[in-house]
Amino acid sequence: MSPTETDQICAVEGCERPMSYTFISTCTGHYRRYERALDEWMEDNDRTEAPTRVKNRILGEVYASGPLRRRLKPNARMCAEKGCKERAVKRGYCNPHYSRRYRDNTLPEVPRTP
Ligand SMILES: [Zn+2]
Ligand SMILES: [Zn+2]
Repeated sequence: MSPTETDQICAVEGCERPMSYTFISTCTGHYRRYERALDEWMEDNDRTEAPTRVKNRILGEVYASGPLRRRLKPNARMCAEKGCKERAVKRGYCNPHYSRRYRDNTLPEVPRTP
């Protein structure tokens, strides 16, 4: 049992926000999306459909709707270290990887511009 086990992220594919609503396993943003869709259904529908089925259907739509606004600009450079998802800040690496490579002296050569 590690304390990070509760540190889950949103169940929506591609969303990396922390899970805030465990009953639907989503972050706050995706919960809002779900809630809004549910509200719309309440207003528009003739309610012949069973509410539990509607909830499941809407939840399915939310899961399929993909991530919310991207946190990073699409062209933001990512750390060049394999498997690292941090943003590159120095020489194409994130801070921890830059520091490690600096210490190990394994930073790539930077071509000099004349
Ligand atoms: Zn989410
Ligand atoms: Zn990195």
